[in-house]
Amino acid sequence: MRIEAERARVLVTVKATPQPSGKYGDTVCVAGVRIDQPSPSWIRLYPIAFRYLGDDAQFKKYDIIELNVRRRDGDTRRESFTPEEGSWTKIGHLPPWKSRHEIMRDLPSTTTCALIRAARRDHSAPSLGLVYPREVLGLKFSAHDPWTAEQLQKMIGRMDREASALIPAGPIPSVLVAPRLKVQYQYLCEDPICTSHVGRILDWELTSLQNRNIRESGEGLKQIITDKFLTMMFDRKREAGLFLGNFELPARRANFSVLGVYYPKREDVLRAGPTLF
Ligand SMILES: [Zn+2]
Repeated sequence: MRIEAERARVLVTVKATPQPSGKYGDTVCVAGVRIDQPSPSWIRLYPIAFRYLGDDAQFKKYDIIELNVRRRDGDTRRESFTPEEGSWTKIGHLPPWKSRHEIMRDLPSTTTCALIRAARRDHSAPSLGLVYPREVLGLKFSAHDPWTAEQLQKMIGRMDREASALIPAGPIPSVLVAPRLKVQYQYLCEDPICTSHVGRILDWELTSLQNRNIRESGEGLKQIITDKFLTMMFDRKREAGLFLGNFELPARRANFSVLGVYYPKREDVLRAGPTLF
């Protein structure tokens, strides 16, 4: 039986890097905060063949969109929904950071240790969360392999199908450029018994940054990434947190990656202290 679609209003906070896909060419996992219900909650929107969308259908982080969603069949992660293609409308954009935090502050933050413990116990445990690291220990870099022949074939397959369609559905993007570096945060969460975590950054911004600096390599490229993902985002003037998400594959449920970074300025997140009289 087909699950009924429902209308959701979502503040987009995460756009993960595109992944090759046989059916869609390449797809993106988007996540955000659902704000049409009595209290805000996490929502994952997958798949979205983002690069195949026309300009008017594209949306950015911190846009507010309305769209039709269905619970994802077979995905036990409770936050996972399938968006109905073409059903979304952009209804606004929140500028940095005060207005964003007015929504984010109502969402309880968590710790990576707590997310992992819960995911090991229960497959329907939270699969998305915002974690404020107690300390970021650094970035770890490793080489990102080029696409395999199979991945390339998947992407070219969709392009060929679109190119030969009588009525083109939308723009045909260029072949996705594989990032050259994989980057991980090494950090301590706020759990008292935390012994540190390593989380791979899957933020689309990391791939874009590498592709914008295509002439840079080696230490130069690492420095550009460090400048943004460590020095800027975790500047002392900011109260930065990590948007974490896990994988659908049951064996990898306890493995949380960094889908993006929330890096408001401290002055924008300070709340009034308790009233004393
Ligand atoms: Zn921890």
